[in-house]
Amino acid sequence: MTTKERNWKPATQLVHAGTLRSQFGETSEALYLTQGYIYDSAEAAEARFKGEEPGFIYSRYANPTVDMFEKRMCALEGAEDARATASGMAAVTAAILCSLKAGDHIVAARALFGSCRWVVETLAPRYGIACTLVDGREIANWEKAVQPNTRLFFLESPTNPTLEVVDIAAVAGLANSVGARLVVDNVFATPLQQKPLELGAHIVVYSATKHIDGQGRCLGGVVLSDKEWIDKNLHDYFRHTGPSLSPFNAWTLLKGLETLPVRVRQQTENAGRVADFLAGRADISRVIYPGRADHPQADIVKRQMGGGSTLICLDLKGGKKSAFAFQNALEIIQISNNLGDAKSLITHPETTTHKNLTAEARAELGIGSGTLRISVGLEDTDDLIADIDSALERAA
Ligand SMILES: *Cc1c(COP(=O)(O)O)cnc(C)c1O
Repeated sequence: MTTKERNWKPATQLVHAGTLRSQFGETSEALYLTQGYIYDSAEAAEARFKGEEPGFIYSRYANPTVDMFEKRMCALEGAEDARATASGMAAVTAAILCSLKAGDHIVAARALFGSCRWVVETLAPRYGIACTLVDGREIANWEKAVQPNTRLFFLESPTNPTLEVVDIAAVAGLANSVGARLVVDNVFATPLQQKPLELGAHIVVYSATKHIDGQGRCLGGVVLSDKEWIDKNLHDYFRHTGPSLSPFNAWTLLKGLETLPVRVRQQTENAGRVADFLAGRADISRVIYPGRADHPQADIVKRQMGGGSTLICLDLKGGKKSAFAFQNALEIIQISNNLGDAKSLITHPETTTHKNLTAEARAELGIGSGTLRISVGLEDTDDLIADIDSALERAA
């Protein structure tokens, strides 16, 4: 990436950074749907494999369309390098496994996306990597969990679904003081509203399936960090295990990036209005929205986030019965566990995304029978509020 691209504002980077224009001068990014590449001669193939000549070798290693997506994400995140993956979970798994070896220890926030929690709690221990889960809201809990072999800290902020926040700079400081690295799953805040690398994190991961696509089309993910760590720790893992993003999905995600700032800005504004409406209702016992002054950790939100996010968590007074009746009565807001989409989506974590946790673990995370998560989309907020209002009336 050029210095010029690095200095552009995010909206400009998201339209132009990393573009590799072919000899045909196409306006839109080209879709290089190819597995391999042809060499001009046997000598050229030899030189390419030796690394003496630049160029692509095989799409499991690198592909021009995927390369454009990685470069554009680097520009936006302010990262030196990146590797794109087939899904967000492939990115999280790679970031964790490539940072550790048998005998190492992870400290992770307990409020994690379900599959992330499975990776640190169930998968990693099979390979001799121990994990301690903590309530990430207090830095003292992170400090207490550190062991001599702690090499990795892992967190998500705001969390799913209760939108708790973790003080990223404080955890990064602790990681540095004990010689560990901090991985931040930055999906909920998006790269536009939170910059973990600037706050001191070492590695940032995304599910590009969420806001980056934002239109419900494809899965994708990305790991971003410094060039040295990617060269030394991630590069060979990618080449040899193949969690690679398909060129078609990279192309779709590039198109998503062009409109990301416009969508995230509008969805955040919509979420703020919907949250204010929900907070004024007597049939709702709790509304958590990072953009509201009554968020339990509003001071940290103010320090590390540039926006309130596109997600809202709420509790209906009538428990599961009311939560189900409310969801079923909605006409515009659709029932789906996805998020960050142009379509507003609602989910009941207890019976869907968090059903595999024990009742005790759900209680620790503040997930009750009446808890719902809304991902606010691009519809007109007057229509969304009318939809919620009439569904609450019918559910009562
Ligand atoms: C969705 C999500 C993931 C997993 O991403 P996929 O693309 O579905 O594999 C990881 N972390 C968070 C916070 C998510 O929301």
